[in-house]
Amino acid sequence: MNAAATAHTHCLRCGRTLTSTKSQATGYGPKCAAKVRKAPIETTDYKAHQIASAQELIEDGAIILIRNNVFAAVSTDGTETHLVHPAACNCKAGLKGTRCYHQLAARMLLAA
Ligand SMILES: [Zn+2]
Ligand SMILES: [Zn+2]
Repeated sequence: MNAAATAHTHCLRCGRTLTSTKSQATGYGPKCAAKVRKAPIETTDYKAHQIASAQELIEDGAIILIRNNVFAAVSTDGTETHLVHPAACNCKAGLKGTRCYHQLAARMLLAA
């Protein structure tokens, strides 16, 4: 089985070994997934569809911490990887200074 690109063996948040297939797909154990989902962050600057996209990104395990406060986010079609900081992103919207959902996802993960 060649699922290395999408399957996670350890929780992206706490580093614990992931045992269920669902957790391996999302990259978060059940407790961490719940925390990320309820992360107490200001979402008032964002539209509902951006919040949904950010949550989807996290649940798909498509955004991972690569170093302090810097995340790598894979685009929906899997062709691009963006470097994301809670206040900056190198996607098209981010480069224009727009707050993109990648930044929101990064903030959610850091707040969790
Ligand atoms: Zn965890
Ligand atoms: Zn972005």
